[in-house]
Amino acid sequence: MNIGICNRCNKMKELCKSHIVPKSFFVSMRDNPNDLIQVSVRLPGKTVKRKIGIYDTNLLCQQCERKTSSIDDYGKEVFLDMACSVIHGNERSGCQYEIENVDIIRLKQFLIAVLWRAAVSQRPEFESVKLEKKVRQKAKKIVFEEVTPKHSEFPFLIIKYLPSDFGPVIVNPTSFVFERCRWAKLFFPGYCVWMYVGRRAPPVIFRKIISYSSSTLYLFGMKYTTSSTFKSAMNVVAGKDTY
Ligand SMILES: [Zn+2]
Repeated sequence: MNIGICNRCNKMKELCKSHIVPKSFFVSMRDNPNDLIQVSVRLPGKTVKRKIGIYDTNLLCQQCERKTSSIDDYGKEVFLDMACSVIHGNERSGCQYEIENVDIIRLKQFLIAVLWRAAVSQRPEFESVKLEKKVRQKAKKIVFEEVTPKHSEFPFLIIKYLPSDFGPVIVNPTSFVFERCRWAKLFFPGYCVWMYVGRRAPPVIFRKIISYSSSTLYLFGMKYTTSSTFKSAMNVVAGKDTY
């Protein structure tokens, strides 16, 4: 039992296990014949079995944790259960996908919930996830008070890694500065989400390629092995870089 201050209600309470990326995503990967292995890019060679992913026991009380369970379920439904069809190109070299009838606002609330948990967590795996205080407060309102995010708030695009290229991988969320703006990357099995988390309006170029309309989600099909995430992880493993 862990007693502490809940990051949502600010009360001293018994805190529960909060998964940063919901447990259901990790459970879905267990169909894989191999065990789920966490590979650390900071400590090459050190692997840990993570059958249910990473959770934080200092984040939320049970009551506040329950508030996100339905949006977490919806995120899992979109990424793992809904039909994803190729609309251009092919799955061997690169393509565009679509998922129809998606509640984009609800999906965005789910993505922001993952982002907020990663930003607030004190676990070392998420220390690179940084949000400005105002952005963090806005994210908290959207997740827990079910405030509808505007189109210009937390815009995102989704990359689906081509299934023929690599097995399912979840990389821990991260945030970074690119073109003088702050961005975050969130990962789900076989997917990478780029989210703009700056305080000002998103860059014009990003507004043009936002991958959704009112209810259709568009995804960019790319090879994981050619992604910058894969290359930087390989550099770290080879001892050429730090992560
Ligand atoms: Zn609470």
